[in-house]
Amino acid sequence: MKRFRLLSSIKGRVTLWYTGFLLLMMALALAYLLIFSQQVLHRQLSTRLKDVVSDTVRDAHFQRGQLQDDRMDFYKDGVSIFIYDTQGRLLAPKINQGVQVDALLEDQVVKEVENNDERFFVYDLYAVRDNIGFWVRGICTLTGATGTIRGMFQLALLAIPTVVLVAGLGGWFITKRSFAVMGRMADTVNAIASGEDLTQRIPDDGSGDELSRLSHTVNGMLERLQRSFENQRRFTSDVSHELRTPTSVIISQCEYGLSPETSPEERENCLRGVLSQAQRMSTMIGQLLMLARGDNGKFEPTWEQVDLSLLCELCAAQLEEKAQEKKVSLETGSCEGAIIVGDETLLIRLVTNLLSNAIQYNRPGGKVSLWVEKKENGFLIKFQDTGIGIAPEDLEKIWERFYRADPSRTGEGTGLGLPMVHWIVKIHGGKVTVESIQGMGSVFSVWLPQHPPSENQS
Ligand code: ADP
Repeated sequence: MKRFRLLSSIKGRVTLWYTGFLLLMMALALAYLLIFSQQVLHRQLSTRLKDVVSDTVRDAHFQRGQLQDDRMDFYKDGVSIFIYDTQGRLLAPKINQGVQVDALLEDQVVKEVENNDERFFVYDLYAVRDNIGFWVRGICTLTGATGTIRGMFQLALLAIPTVVLVAGLGGWFITKRSFAVMGRMADTVNAIASGEDLTQRIPDDGSGDELSRLSHTVNGMLERLQRSFENQRRFTSDVSHELRTPTSVIISQCEYGLSPETSPEERENCLRGVLSQAQRMSTMIGQLLMLARGDNGKFEPTWEQVDLSLLCELCAAQLEEKAQEKKVSLETGSCEGAIIVGDETLLIRLVTNLLSNAIQYNRPGGKVSLWVEKKENGFLIKFQDTGIGIAPEDLEKIWERFYRADPSRTGEGTGLGLPMVHWIVKIHGGKVTVESIQGMGSVFSVWLPQHPPSENQS
């Protein structure tokens, strides 16, 4: 049961896999070392054997048919030397060293011989000195050296399980630590899924490794999700709040209009009230739809050549009546060849929104100036008014949907005009800024490039 639990976790599988792999690699390395070291050892021994035998041949001398062995060395570098005559009779050493092996004398052949459970390397060389032929035999034992290798092998066999165990435990510990982040990630995602609490974040140890980067990415995604959910929630509550007022007005106007006591004039007034509220709602719904299409990336602008000076004059002419009603004078200034590639319908909305705000938030006897000037690779449209101005703390917020600086939130505004302006400027790749002094007036500046960043962008 425990084994299966181990295999069902990634860390268990990873640890098992690499421990098994390590074991295999160590076994292969050991086998290779054993074979290789035995070959090297045999090669070294046979070279040494040949050298010692050749040295002995060089040192051997005969006088009156007798070998002069008093100065000769019969044991050198682990090699025992024996000298035989041509009949195979031992000439030297006189004292038996006890390592003699029973093997035929063969010239220049290294052979492996087993004697009394001991293994030897034997090398014979036939030579002639002082006109006398003789054999020199060198013998060295293999048992000691092979025993050392065997001992090393047995030691390694004992060490392998310890090394594998330590590596396995170490690996298990490291993978467990690394995968703990994934466990926490799963817990966080579960907590979000069950409680819908998007404020939770995955702890990030900041190590910069793959899992830390994954935590960072997931946290970034949660951040965006949270922001988008909050926007959606605020948006829904704002829309319902904004629609509640006109709907209540329409209901009460209708109820009053339908009452038998209401006079025809009052009924007409009621209808006018209903119409005005319905128009306001219709404007708001139109703006909302357009913004929503922009948000979804479904809006396809129609790019065409637009003369900004002409467009501004056209919009100003349309709002002339409203300006007169508000006792505000309207002044426009044109710029030769202010032609850009843009969406004309959207640009008309942009200019109309900013211009009607400049009239709306003006004072009787005030003035609105609208002009176009060339700037960098585009044109700047300026809307200057002598109106109520905007408080510094509101300057950032006026771009938010449904935000209206007027705390009573009365009047015909919807709080969607400036967000629309912002969105239109954005899809044209432009910039919009505002400078305002409360009680003195405001200047809205819209810079539009001659060409939008991508004519397919929405
Ligand atoms: P609204 O439909 O209320 O005009 P906007 O998004 O166009 O919505 O404007 C948001 C708020 O910014 C307005 O309610 C108003 O308080 C403020 N505002 C916009 N333009 C001006 C201006 N030219 N002068 C003073 N206040 C302005």
